Amino acid sequence: MGKKLLIDLLSLREMKQVPADIVMKAGQHNLSFKTIRELATFQFTCRHCENAPCIKVCPADALDKDENGLVSRAVNLCVRCKSCIVACPFGTMMDDLFAVKTSGKRFIRLEDEKDMEEFASLFPGDVVTVVDREENPDEHIYKLNDSILIKEFNWQ
Ligand code: SF4
Ligand code: SF4
Repeated sequence: MGKKLLIDLLSLREMKQVPADIVMKAGQHNLSFKTIRELATFQFTCRHCENAPCIKVCPADALDKDENGLVSRAVNLCVRCKSCIVACPFGTMMDDLFAVKTSGKRFIRLEDEKDMEEFASLFPGDVVTVVDREENPDEHIYKLNDSILIKEFNWQ
């Protein structure tokens, strides 16, 4: 069992400014790079509304549900107008969720413990930690992928 990054999305949401993002490949058909925050937010925080206001309001048709019923953003279409962020009745999306950061965005080797520790050290307290454990829904800790655990209230 390898080490994993545990990202506490609950605490991250309280931070005025997120110091760093990791971007990773996402999507089965139209591969693009998205932040872990975006992937985790749509997977765990989002309530998967039936007639999703975020999708309806998007002026660029950039949002849709993927094959798993998760809201997914077409990065190439999104104009970052934030209409979806405002329209979501549950405040699901952090205000800067789709911001393009010129600094702080990092590619790290998720199989490299040193890279993980370095990334975690950019965050205060236990917001991001390197752990040797598995998911546990009783603690609101869920698996995003083999290298990343997310702490969040899961609406699924
Ligand atoms: S930020 Fe604007 S363009 Fe991008 S997904 Fe949301 S509503 Fe659509
Ligand atoms: S409106 Fe909010 S909760 Fe509903 S599907 Fe969109 S992001 Fe998810």
